[in-house]
Order: sequence, then structure tokens, then C-alpha cells
Amino acid sequence: MTDPQFPVGTILGYPRIGRRRELKRAVEAFWAGTITEGELETRAAELRGEMRARLAALGLDATNSAIPEAFSFYDQVLDAAVTVGAVPERFADLVAADGSLDLAGYFTLARGDSDRAPLEMTKWFDSNYHYLVPEIAPDTQFDLASVRLLREVAEATVSGYRTRPVIVGPVTLLLLSKASESAPDGFRPLDRLDDLLPVYAELLAALTAVGAEWVQLDEPALVSESIDIPRTDVLGAVDRAYSLLAASEVRPRIFVSAAYGDLGDALPVLDATGVDAIGLDLARGSLPEGFRTETILVGGVVDGRNIWRGDLAAAFGTLEVLREHSPSVAVSTSTSLFHVPHDVDDEQQLPQRMRGWLAFADQKVAQVATLARGLAEGRAAITTEVDAATAALADRASADGVRVDAVRQRAATLGPADFARGDYAVRADLQAAALGLPLLPTTTIGSFPQTGDIRRTRASFARGDLSEAGYTEAMRDEIRRVVALQEELGLDVIVHGEPERNDMVQYFAENLDGFAATQHGWVQSYGSRCTRPSILWGDVSRPAPITVDWSTFTQGLTDKPVKGMLTGPVTILAWSFVRDDQPLRDTANQVALALRDEIADLEGAGIRIIQVDEPALRELLPLRRQDQPDYLDWSVGAFRLATAGVDDRTQIHTHLCYSEFGVVLDAIDRLDADVTSIEAARSRMEVVPDVAAAGFPRGIGPGVYDIHSPRVPGVDEVVSLIDIAIGAIPERQVWVNPDCGLKTRGYDETVQSLRNIVAATAAVRERISG
Ligand code: GLN
Ligand code: ZN
Repeated sequence: MTDPQFPVGTILGYPRIGRRRELKRAVEAFWAGTITEGELETRAAELRGEMRARLAALGLDATNSAIPEAFSFYDQVLDAAVTVGAVPERFADLVAADGSLDLAGYFTLARGDSDRAPLEMTKWFDSNYHYLVPEIAPDTQFDLASVRLLREVAEATVSGYRTRPVIVGPVTLLLLSKASESAPDGFRPLDRLDDLLPVYAELLAALTAVGAEWVQLDEPALVSESIDIPRTDVLGAVDRAYSLLAASEVRPRIFVSAAYGDLGDALPVLDATGVDAIGLDLARGSLPEGFRTETILVGGVVDGRNIWRGDLAAAFGTLEVLREHSPSVAVSTSTSLFHVPHDVDDEQQLPQRMRGWLAFADQKVAQVATLARGLAEGRAAITTEVDAATAALADRASADGVRVDAVRQRAATLGPADFARGDYAVRADLQAAALGLPLLPTTTIGSFPQTGDIRRTRASFARGDLSEAGYTEAMRDEIRRVVALQEELGLDVIVHGEPERNDMVQYFAENLDGFAATQHGWVQSYGSRCTRPSILWGDVSRPAPITVDWSTFTQGLTDKPVKGMLTGPVTILAWSFVRDDQPLRDTANQVALALRDEIADLEGAGIRIIQVDEPALRELLPLRRQDQPDYLDWSVGAFRLATAGVDDRTQIHTHLCYSEFGVVLDAIDRLDADVTSIEAARSRMEVVPDVAAAGFPRGIGPGVYDIHSPRVPGVDEVVSLIDIAIGAIPERQVWVNPDCGLKTRGYDETVQSLRNIVAATAAVRERISG
């Protein structure tokens, strides 16, 4: 048998959504019933074809397994689950006799339907991508149930390519799964590894049969320390899984990639199993000190997580050191490129100078190709490209706006007092007197439904079809409507509804110095949902007040307190592409100071409650425990810097959502916000016992309405949720609110739900006082 060599240069994956979000459009058209399953398949096959051709043109070897076959209609974890037949019982009727699912069935797992909840969705490592959480039962029947990956490899072969199939590996698949609801206590999906492995072995044999010479098994869960399974069990699973797969008779060569950090003690274990190549994330992780092997090491030196052109000389230097660890070294990206947009050349409205500092997916592929040439032919062969990258770095470092003296001087003079407010007990009394709110105050998280009308008005203003005055009047009309509605419903703290915001981060990025917006820089957030992060490239400051006019206009419409609404520094960083030339702490403090000015102006204009949203606080938590204290220190510090300048009488709120908060409860406490609203309805207030046990002393609003679903919670249901909260937490601390903003909901269900929330609160208040 010939011994296929690993390609010298490769990438772990590429954006799947399409340069102009073609896949999003096709998938949504299929959901809407305007195209058929066959048409969607055709469209997807065309996109895959274009992708392969593009990657070959950018310098990946078309016939040597360098091009990853890593397409997905929705999510790669769902794909792996479906491939091995792990379909939860409640979807059993969607499965055909041969075990397969059609596309409609596949999407039903992802999105649910009128009588079935979808798979849960959660964040993929420390990124803003969300994957679907497979559910594994003690009796889940594993089978090779989908031939999709085989078909895609065959499709590539037919068009003259030899690509490298990519699938989530067995250990990560089980580590990221949850036990199905029917499973007995203590059951762990990882306990099913031995039943799952034969299906992977069968898949590898089948991939060989369709011509695959290499397969990529993604095992990022091995780098994470946030997984709730003893490390010895994880290492044992790695050993069992890969010893068995490596010993299979018919298989492609196995490349195990481990993005998002260091493999640590899993590296020698994995290496001893006999896999053929191991991918190391050398952007996040470090070189494996003291480790030597004959196994091919694939150095992930081109950062897949940021959009900067980076330092090619340093990257090549790292590869040269990697050669001391193995005689066979190849180069790749540190992660799949699906975290970054397609192509800088699509951003013609960005200053040309700035484009020279950037590398999106296509530019990163070209960098990999350059480094591969350097590995093959020596450093001298790539001098031109390396020097150009070095020059771009120097150009960026010296450009106007990257370092602004005034911003830096202000940050340099900060002292502990800038991060601290007065005693909470004193604040609480002053705020109670100033605001006069009832027991169990009701409020919302900020946004109201974003109707087609609102979106069209914003778009026509952005295009220049609508005058500034016309736009302001349209938004004010919307605010009038939303305020009147809240008054009619009887909510206690009023919001303006955020109609002027397309996105809670982009809105602030557009109004702060130091940010640039892209035109086509979309990245997948989940399924067909994409976001377009701004680029934080320079020192951040606030040229003018941003939200003050909207908030004061709103306060003028009502006697009730209006809550000013801002996005916090950590979330602004998490959902932007952030400069990599200084510590995140410094960048966060600059954003915090800009927000501090905004808060001072809101306060000066008579706004007595200001909410600073930090839904991404948990998301940025580093995967490695040793990195967590520093992160929590600067992230909490930035929030405090933004908020600590206010008078004791001004009430600061924050809002968190999207994840379990047990781990960061202490950090939430240290934010020192007067009131924290937190997502809780879906889990029936799971967070409440933690909050109670921690003795959390300040205001807390565990969400009583799951806004991720159109379902209207009944009055009794909301009463029971409030009862859970006041059963554990002193009732004077409890606020009543939905889980999150209402912008994705329709008006009908929103109005009914809020009505029920107000009615439930009234009932509980009456019971308490009566
Ligand atoms: N204030 C924002 C809103 O209501 C918060 C959104 C969020 O937490 N993701 O839309
Ligand atoms: Zn939220």
C-alpha cells in the first residue's frame, strides 16, 4: 500500500455560509417552502464546488487531501450525531427505515416543531458560535445512519479533487452531549463510548471505499478544562477510542485536530495510540515542551479566530521549533476558519491602508500556502511574503488612531477609586427613596419586537432615502407606542424598546471611535443566523453622546422611571473582532471609559436607572482554569470602571443570559450592580438556589418568560416561578422580568406574556401583603 503523505499546508475548515450568505438564503427558502429539498441539495453542492475551486486557487493542493470536506447545513455537532444515528426518541418518527433523516427531519432536530422541543443550543468553546447538544440515552442505538459525508467526498472525487473528510471525533461528540432526560441519575454519555466506536470504525472503512486517504477527526473537547468529567476518564477515553480506530484494518490515515487550546496531558496519550497526525493549536496553545514523536505534527500557527494579518515571520519560526518535536511537520490554521468572514477584498469601502492589516479566511488560506512553501523549500523561498507581513504590522502600529495619546493618558491615571461605588446598603436605601418602586418591581430587558416597519425605516435611513429628521420622528413614534403599551400593561420600569439598534454591539461600535464596520463580514452564529462583527482596530473613545437623546425623550413621556440601556465592555469585545496588539484588559478599559462618559451624561440628563448588558460575560471565560482569574479580574474591572462613576442614588442594572452562571456567580457578585437580571425560565429557575446559597445581597431578576420560544407563559406558571424565587431569596431583592430582550418576538405573544407577568406579580404581591 502506498503511504499517502499529509499535505504540507492545510486548513481545519472554511466558512460554510457562502461569500454572500448563499447557504443561509437557500436554507431559509427551504424552510419557507419556496424551494424544494432537491433544489436546496443542488444549491449546496454548487457552493461546495465553488469552495473547493476557491481553496485550490488559493494554494491548497487539490489532489492531496489538503482541502477539508467540512460542509454543514446547520451545525457540525448535529451532523456527527446524525451520522452515528444519535436521534433522540421524540424525533423517532422522522427517521426512515434505513436509519436516515431527510433534510426536513434534520432541521426539525435543530429547530423543533409545534410539539417537540429542539436540541438545546449552547456556545462552542469560548466562541460566539452555538452548537446543538446531542442527547444520549443508555439505550441510544448507534448506527452509521447518514451517508452524507461519504457522498460529499465522492462528489469531490467526481469533480477531480481528493478532499479530506472532517467530522467531530467520538470523544468530543460524547463529551459535548448531554444525558437524555430519561437516563438514570449518574449516567454519562461518555459511558457509551465502546458502543459508539464501531460506528466510527465503520465510517472510516466506508470513507476509504469512496477514496479518502485522510480523515480529520476534530477533538477540541480535549483542550477544555470546563468539562465536568474527571480528566483521567477523558484520557482513558482518548486511549480506547484512538487505539481502536488506529487498529482498524481498513481506514484512511487519521488526523486528530485539537483546536482552541493546549492538548496538555492528552497529547502523549493520543500520540501513543498510533494515529497518523496530530493538529496543535499554536495560536492559543503552546509548543509541547519536552515532547518528541515520529507522528506528523500539524502546527496551527495561522490564527483562525481573528481577522489580523499577523506575524508570518513568527509563525514560520514556531514551525521551525516544532520540527524539533517531530521530523514531520505541516502547517494549518489554529481552528476552522468558520469564525472569520470570507475575504478582505470584498471590503472595498474600508480604507485601503486598513485592508493591508487584515486577513479573513481567504487571506489566511494564502498564508498557510506560503508557510507550506517555506517548509518545503526553505525560508528564503517566502521572504517576500514574510517581509510584506512584517511591514504591514509596522504600518498598523504607526497609523493614526491606533494609539491616541489622550485615551492612553486617561487610562494611565486610573486608580482603585475609579472602580468602586459606595456601600450597597446605603445605595439601596437612597435608591428606594428616589425611585419609589413597589415590591417585586416589573420590567423588561430592553428591546421590544423589531417589526418589519422598524427594520425598513432603519434600512432606508442607512441608504440615505430617509432624512435624519424623518428617521428620528419614525423612531420617536415607535418609542411613544412602546411606552404607551408598557404604561397600559402596568410595568414599573419603562424602556424605550431599542428600535434604533440593529444589533446591541454594532450600534455602539458605529458610534465610537476606534471601530470599523464591514460590508460582507458575516460569520455564522448558529444555523442560518449570522452576525457581522465590527473591527476594533484603534484606541476607543466616544466622540459624542450616543443614547442620551433617545432616553431623555422617553423619560419625557412617562412619570415612571425610564431605564437607560447600554451594552457593556466585555460584550462589546466578545462580539467584535478585537485588536491583538495589546492586552484585552487595556482595550476593555478604554471601552469602559467611553461608556462611563455615556452613563455620566445619562445621569446628568435625569435618567435614574441605567442598565449595562453583559450577556457575553460567561462566553469569554477562558477554557483553561489558570487563565480564568485574570479574565474575571479585568472583565469585572471594566464593568465597574464603566459604572462606578454614578451617584449612589442612580441604580445600575446588568443583564446576563445564554449560559449557566454557577461558575461565574462570584464574578457577577463583584460586578456590584444594584440589580441583575438573568436568564432562568427555561431551566425553571435553576440558578435561584445558587444565588440563594451564595447569599447574593443585591437585586436579582431571574427571568420568568422564555423569549426563545413563541410560547406564552400562563399566569399560574409565572406565579409558580416567582414563588420559587421568593422561596429562596428575600422578596425585597426580587425583580420580575423576561429572560432576555423581546426583539425577536412578535407583538401578539409579547403583549400576552407581559400581561400575564404583570398579573402574576400583582397576585403574588397581594398574597404577601394580605
Ligand atoms: N438589552 C438587550 C435587549 O433587550 C439585551 C440583549 C441580550 O441580552 N442579548 O435586546
Ligand atoms: Zn439576554
